[in-house]
Amino acid sequence: MLSYDIRQLEREAVRVDGELAPGDPVWAEGDLVPSEPLHVTGRLSKAGHGRYYWSGRIEGAASGACRRCLADVSSAVAEDVHVLYAEAGDEVAEDPDAYRLPSNAQVIDLRPAVREQWLLSAPSFFLCREDCQGLCARCGADLNAGPCGCPPETDSRWDALRSLRDASR
Ligand SMILES: [Zn+2]
Ligand SMILES: [Zn+2]
Repeated sequence: MLSYDIRQLEREAVRVDGELAPGDPVWAEGDLVPSEPLHVTGRLSKAGHGRYYWSGRIEGAASGACRRCLADVSSAVAEDVHVLYAEAGDEVAEDPDAYRLPSNAQVIDLRPAVREQWLLSAPSFFLCREDCQGLCARCGADLNAGPCGCPPETDSRWDALRSLRDASR
């Protein structure tokens, strides 16, 4: 539950402590969805007329395949977030970093901001380790386990020269 009643926010700040599940409908097709529920915390408070401020943190994990050897990789993601909500008509709502609330909004739903912050902080690719050797392009062996026995790559330009030389013999 990441929706907060605006009438309550008018009276007092609220503690944010909830989860955004990987199966939540806020995720769009093509999103790198977290591999476990995302933990969302912080404080949501009134910040002037029709303005609200969420200062908090998202924590979770992303997983995917190593871009070199295709092994499964999981990496932790933790990011501090600072989000301003403003009612439509407020000049602050035109700020690209602010989230616009409809003027008759009853609740603030943090999920779209959580999704955006997650997508900004999640890795865009995975590496199982910095010096991953990847897979052999010929036989597909995992080169992290040692050399595969394929002959070393030769440069095809030398092959062409060699065949010219052989032909002239
Ligand atoms: Zn790898
Ligand atoms: Zn090989």
